[in-house]
Amino acid sequence: MHLSDLTETTCVPTPGRLEPSVRPAALETIDAVVLGWVDNAGITRVKAIPYSRLDAVATHGVGFSPVFDVFLADDSITAGSLVGGPAGDLRLIPDLAALRPLAAQPGWAWAPGDRYTQDGVPYPGCQRAFARRMTARAGLRGLSLRMGFEVEWITGTEGPDGSFVPAFHKAAYGMTRMVRVSDQLRELIRALAAQDVSVLQVHPEYAAGQLEVSVAPEDPVGAADTTVLVRETIRAVAARHGHAVSFAPCVLPGEVGNGAHLHFSPWRDGMNLCHGGEGPQGLTREGEAFLAGVLRELPALLAIGAPGAAGHLRLVPDRWAGAYRCWGLENREAALRLITGMAGERQHAANAELKCFDATANPYLVVGTVIAAGLAGIEDELRLPAEVAGNPSAVAGVPRLPESPAAALEALEASAVLREALGEILFDAITAVRRAEIARSAGMTPSEIAADARRLY
Ligand code: GLU
Ligand code: MG
Repeated sequence: MHLSDLTETTCVPTPGRLEPSVRPAALETIDAVVLGWVDNAGITRVKAIPYSRLDAVATHGVGFSPVFDVFLADDSITAGSLVGGPAGDLRLIPDLAALRPLAAQPGWAWAPGDRYTQDGVPYPGCQRAFARRMTARAGLRGLSLRMGFEVEWITGTEGPDGSFVPAFHKAAYGMTRMVRVSDQLRELIRALAAQDVSVLQVHPEYAAGQLEVSVAPEDPVGAADTTVLVRETIRAVAARHGHAVSFAPCVLPGEVGNGAHLHFSPWRDGMNLCHGGEGPQGLTREGEAFLAGVLRELPALLAIGAPGAAGHLRLVPDRWAGAYRCWGLENREAALRLITGMAGERQHAANAELKCFDATANPYLVVGTVIAAGLAGIEDELRLPAEVAGNPSAVAGVPRLPESPAAALEALEASAVLREALGEILFDAITAVRRAEIARSAGMTPSEIAADARRLY
């Protein structure tokens, strides 16, 4: 098959029922299923059905207005030139292969949805279909991707005046923090295990109230599904302990924020292209070209991966957020950090980490656009620029990433690679949402931006 033959229908599964024989036993106690979908503003929106309707809904879906594609984070609605308005409907169809019981919401299950037209054709504006399409595009070139999102969040309580009180303060990475929330974290680890999420590590992070979970890498759509499920599980477990959580990139201006770093490695024929090659730091030439493609599109990718004003409050030097457009081995100030792992495990462990992204992004758009950018790098046989060792702020000439949502949006609008990959409907909806979010935050102070993001994410 040639790339030109690739259509969305070749990589989106045909809707259908899950054979009873492959239904997990844990589903026997399920009464209701949430169908989840993430909009272009990064908000997870849902519909729910009684479990008894699952087979019917797995075939025909539930109604879902396309106007959701131009919802802003605060539920106001904008319009693009191709998307918007009250007319029309889509079908949101659960992907039963990704159905999971929700351990912290007994009796409930979760399934991410794909959106189809009423004629049963995958909707061109569907973010999850886009992620599948880019995965298939890589597959057509003999490449597969392993990906995983880190999840950072802040846990605490809401004061009567709407202010946020972190659950703990000192010490960063401190055992004192684990003690304060040990029941909650234990329950979280159990819940994630019950949901088939493979947790690698949980740790207290740097900022007040901040915690982190990292999960095992998987295929790109799986990684996006997992990060949505992990976030909602964290929220549900915290609620059982009387806590509110926020994944917002900036909760308190001037403090370290929450990232949603994306780890990724391209593979060919069972070989990790981030290891054992002739390129810099052991990258294969193809792995180097993939990373160089990502670095080339990074200003545009920022409008996908860290789209909002709160993201730019986080994205400043010396917070390990990756504010510089450069790469470096184990460099936590570089937007693109290369990780080789320990001797003996490098063949499977080596990967790259995009540190500049945050959880206001739609993760399906993130994985899809990163693949598109990397594949374009391979196509153009790109090489990486010189590696930056040490703090980029001390090295002359290392550029910052775009320093505002408007500058990142401008880069996205100028990116032929991402425009082609996303297709006109998705590109129109995303850019409309970005423009409207820029207008929405225009009059806000940093504290207002942070409070807004803290409540919405
Ligand atoms: N919290 C930092 C961020 O904003 C990341 C810290 C780390 O390297 O894990 O992305
Ligand atoms: Mg971290």
